[in-house]
Amino acid sequence: MPSPNFNTLEQMQAIIQAAVETKSPVIMQVSKGARNYANGTILRYMAQGAVEYAKELGCEKPQIVLHLDHGDTFELCKDCIDNGFSSVMIDGSSLPYEENIALTKKVVEYAHQYDVTVEAELGVLAGVEDEVQAEESHYTKPEEVIDFATRSGCDSLAISIGTSHGAYKFTPEQCTRDPKTGKLVPPPLAFDILHEIEKRLPGFPIVLHGSSSVPQDEVDTINAHGGKLPDAVGIPEEQLREASKSAVCKINIDSDSRLAMTAAIRKHFDEKPGDFDPRQYLKPARENMKKMYIHKIVEVLGSNEKL
Ligand SMILES: [Zn+2]
Repeated sequence: MPSPNFNTLEQMQAIIQAAVETKSPVIMQVSKGARNYANGTILRYMAQGAVEYAKELGCEKPQIVLHLDHGDTFELCKDCIDNGFSSVMIDGSSLPYEENIALTKKVVEYAHQYDVTVEAELGVLAGVEDEVQAEESHYTKPEEVIDFATRSGCDSLAISIGTSHGAYKFTPEQCTRDPKTGKLVPPPLAFDILHEIEKRLPGFPIVLHGSSSVPQDEVDTINAHGGKLPDAVGIPEEQLREASKSAVCKINIDSDSRLAMTAAIRKHFDEKPGDFDPRQYLKPARENMKKMYIHKIVEVLGSNEKL
């Protein structure tokens, strides 16, 4: 199912409208950066509002998760759990293996007392996302997953198989160029590692971070209206579609909504330079994000008609 980040009303409304229209469950993610930007209390009540809003739109039993993305300390996870989150991620992936297990276990022991689920991470993703940053990726080692999941007690596991955070997932050197369009073609995901992990942990929920596809039409719109995003490149949708047919059940999408929002706003300002009421340019931004979420749910992730 889709797992988009939100820190604005526009993103939240677009996500809920898309989820209700397609009858899809959704995981609304809040990062540490979003809590700093929009305030943790406001975001928490926005998420409660989202559930009521989904009911108002005609969804009897909305499945909406409020999830902390990339929690980096026990204290941050505890704070979110104490404040009504239904799910948290503890990202100990940059720590040595045994420390990652110990930190994850500590969060799991606290979270499970309150029926809160815990996502852990094993392996390192490259790229930049809010305060999460890594130069190089380290693929998850399949031989570690049983030990890690068993000893930490985590409920789901984020793995590294070649996805990457941000809108510049790969350098031009890592890619080939399509001779017809001149666009970058990224290296394929390591499906052999994913299948090896699935074999060792049958039925265990697997998470893919950094899985925006960086739609080139949005990038082109941004660049045509004064933006500058040369060589932005994401994960091709065919690969995400293939991954969503495996044990991968949560696919994180953040950059795509940023791009959809920015493209609509840039285009609007270019065409109507006299507008200055935020509602005038945020409305098309919201519509464009909603269109993108519906496309992802129905055409890529296949989580529609599940409610
Ligand atoms: Zn992430």
